[in-house]
Amino acid sequence: MKVDTVIVGAGTAGLSALREVRRYTDDFLLINDGHWGTTCAANGCMPSKALIEAANAFHRRKAFEDFGIRGADGLRADVPAVLARVRRLRDDFVQGPASTPERLGARALAGRARLKGPGRLDVDGREVEARAVILAPGSRPVVPEPWRRFGERILTTDTLFERRDLPRRIAVVGMGAIGVELAQAFARLGLEVAGFDAVEGLAGIDDPEVLATFRPLIEAELALHLGAPAELEQAGGAIRVSGAGGDFEADAVLAAMGRRPNVDGLGLETLGVPLDDAGLPEVDRSTLRVGDLPVFLAGDANGDRAILHEAADEGHVAGRMASPESEKGGFRRRTPFSVTFCSPQVARVGPPLSALGDRDLASAEADFSRQGRARVAHEAEGLLRVHADRRTGRLLAAEMCAPAAEHLGHLLALAVERGMTVSDVLAAPFYHPVLEEGLRGALRDLAKAVPEAGGSDLSRCKAIGHEALD
Ligand SMILES: Cc1cc2nc3c(=O)[nH]c(=O)nc-3n(C[C@H](O)[C@H](O)[C@H](O)COP(=O)(O)OP(=O)(O)OC[C@H]3O[C@@H](n4cnc5c(N)ncnc54)[C@H](O)[C@@H]3O)c2cc1C
Repeated sequence: MKVDTVIVGAGTAGLSALREVRRYTDDFLLINDGHWGTTCAANGCMPSKALIEAANAFHRRKAFEDFGIRGADGLRADVPAVLARVRRLRDDFVQGPASTPERLGARALAGRARLKGPGRLDVDGREVEARAVILAPGSRPVVPEPWRRFGERILTTDTLFERRDLPRRIAVVGMGAIGVELAQAFARLGLEVAGFDAVEGLAGIDDPEVLATFRPLIEAELALHLGAPAELEQAGGAIRVSGAGGDFEADAVLAAMGRRPNVDGLGLETLGVPLDDAGLPEVDRSTLRVGDLPVFLAGDANGDRAILHEAADEGHVAGRMASPESEKGGFRRRTPFSVTFCSPQVARVGPPLSALGDRDLASAEADFSRQGRARVAHEAEGLLRVHADRRTGRLLAAEMCAPAAEHLGHLLALAVERGMTVSDVLAAPFYHPVLEEGLRGALRDLAKAVPEAGGSDLSRCKAIGHEALD
């Protein structure tokens, strides 16, 4: 079989590449192994957020007494019903991508692709040749081999959302974004939860001050064992998980130690380019091209920025660059931006503080424990830290654990992306009473340390330009 362009993987990156490929050819083949529903819709972003929303709704009862609402003690979380809702929503979200084979007919092929060289693939015994190949095979949860002896009691995000019920005690190993989100959701649903991680980090937070604010907030809801690798052993009918500072007997363990690119068995070694220890080739971030080959590696599979909007962007770029008339050069990537959907939410905009190096920074913070709107909503906790270039006043980065960090993060991402200065942002209107006033407080403090900012939020009127009036 000979086609112009092959796309391997029908996830977010592959489908986004497909949109671009269809602009230049109908002679393509989309190959996908397993379900066609995408990781995001089937077992990633969407079902996890559905579970978190249910957990947060139930958790809210703890504030009722303070609001003057009585009777919260009578509420209970029906976990099977919660999981049934998650699956209902999930089934609806996957419908669109799952109809891809129907829509593409013979141009969609179910099967496992393996490269046999730059323009040649094997798909379960069928030979496919293509001028350009876009690889977007995604990633999968890491599960240490010895843990497999515990069978179905080891959960991953591939199996979690299929469960009809959850056991009473769950250990979560790996306290990155996914681990923290799900551990807190389990705890909020009333399960006994302990979180383990080899390092003393949470949700990928880089700024030590944000982490110091966040840790006790999470620790108030679940036991944390951070700073030593977790060990698992059989303990009667349970699994004993040992880690820093103690152990925990669990009925199930969620392995959340990260995701591995699906490149083993993909045949990358046949491309004739060097591969690193993880089996990955060097990929140009602005073109997604592998070496100078007509081969592109996009999405989670290239091991860089494994989040959805980046996977979509990478598919888009790979699809554009795979065109026979592709423009020279590549695409500038967006400002880095990530959100963890725990409470308070964690968000980072721009490079992590530790990567800002020895730049001359001006920094300021907003403490949400005293922020007016956060207090009336009974969510007064968290810290936002924002950094600017002292000389130019340009906003560079921010990290926070704060209520509605997803929205504050978008505002800051827009400012950083557009190269705005502290005074540019302060010149915008801020309504009252809103959480954004917390950010404004930090920016006003920042303005004092930045000569660029002129001492007033308001812009000066322009001179009228008439000699007599100037
Ligand atoms: C629990 C969880 C929560 C998440 N939450 C968020 C979030 O809130 N926000 C966010 O931005 N990101 C989130 N993510 C990350 C996000 O889901 C991923 O970054 C994104 O889905 C990756 O898309 P992809 O196209 O690279 O891979 P996928 O969607 O996984 O697609 C890859 C496809 O390729 C197929 N494939 C693999 N190998 C082959 C082969 N050899 N031949 C043929 N086909 C193959 C796979 O079966 C799959 O269908 C979350 C992920 C998880 C697991």
